[in-house]
Amino acid sequence: MEIAFIGLGNMGAPMALNLLKAGHALAVHDLNGQAVERLVTEGARPCQSPAEAVGNADLVLTMLPAPQHVDKVLTGDQGVLGAIRRGVPIVDCSTIDPASVRRLAELALAQGNDLADAPVSGGTAGAAAGTLTFMVGAPAGLFARIEPILQGMGRRIVHCGDVGNGQVAKICNNLVLGISMIAVSEAMALGVKEGIDAKVLADIINASSGRCWSSEVYNPYPGIVETAPASHGYQGGFGVDLMLKDLGLATEAARQGKQPLPMGALAQQLYQVWSQRGAGHLDFSSIIQLLSNPNVDKPRSITPLNTTHTP
Ligand code: NAD
Repeated sequence: MEIAFIGLGNMGAPMALNLLKAGHALAVHDLNGQAVERLVTEGARPCQSPAEAVGNADLVLTMLPAPQHVDKVLTGDQGVLGAIRRGVPIVDCSTIDPASVRRLAELALAQGNDLADAPVSGGTAGAAAGTLTFMVGAPAGLFARIEPILQGMGRRIVHCGDVGNGQVAKICNNLVLGISMIAVSEAMALGVKEGIDAKVLADIINASSGRCWSSEVYNPYPGIVETAPASHGYQGGFGVDLMLKDLGLATEAARQGKQPLPMGALAQQLYQVWSQRGAGHLDFSSIIQLLSNPNVDKPRSITPLNTTHTP
């Protein structure tokens, strides 16, 4: 089977590599030539445009930053919909808003192509290890067709319902994550300021009712979890700007549905302040710096030191 893969960034590149390893032929495209070259050295065929990539494809996969990029790749000049063969399914793995996915699925269906949304969780480590969770929005027949391909890149492939519902699941999860990271950051900053050792406090939270992924696996305080970005100067991981985008998707969906989202809106504003101060590229757990010292005018690179220091 030939797969067209468009969007070879932090997530797309390792996902595409796993499809090559699974024995698929890959036609790849990205605006970044170096990203394409890396995949070509592993056996993929380089393409100058989305249209060229999908010409012979039996399946099209996209992994792009935000709704406007997916829209451009699908409907723009030299885009997917202008060149794809009738009947070939499109699977968009980007995190975008449910309304955009549903609109693009209608456009695709009008010319004889099914479109599924399949956003992922598991981060860059999960993408490299092939252990991602896919949240798939698709009619049952399409889900059955694409599930075996997604298994080459992920461990859990969950059918969330019809098209758009994968994105609903994804933005709801990231809403919890964005808020819970701020809650853990507030608690860690307060505790340390009041004199408790950060490690002792983290151990207490993780053995008590405050325990969550943000406290246990991805604690924002440096030196608590060795594998967390907080222990590595907040490099890598999931960027402040990507979290900001996902909270924007959640608040926009809430606005359209007239659904209150007070905590999500506040969390969005805090990440926005932090991004404005130059932290957009850092891992989102760096928000603890803003909460520890609201006057901090730009992010500091932090290495794990004595855990009694404030971050
Ligand atoms: P990224 O910015 O690293 O990669 C995006 C790639 O898309 C880039 O290589 C860019 O050149 C390419 N691109 C942009 N516009 C293009 C166009 N018009 N034509 C061709 N290529 C184009 O982003 P990422 O971290 O790989 O994330 C991709 C998606 O996955 C996002 O929606 C993100 O929210 C989601 N996601 C990311 C993570 C993570 O940990 N990074 C985890 C889960 C989900």
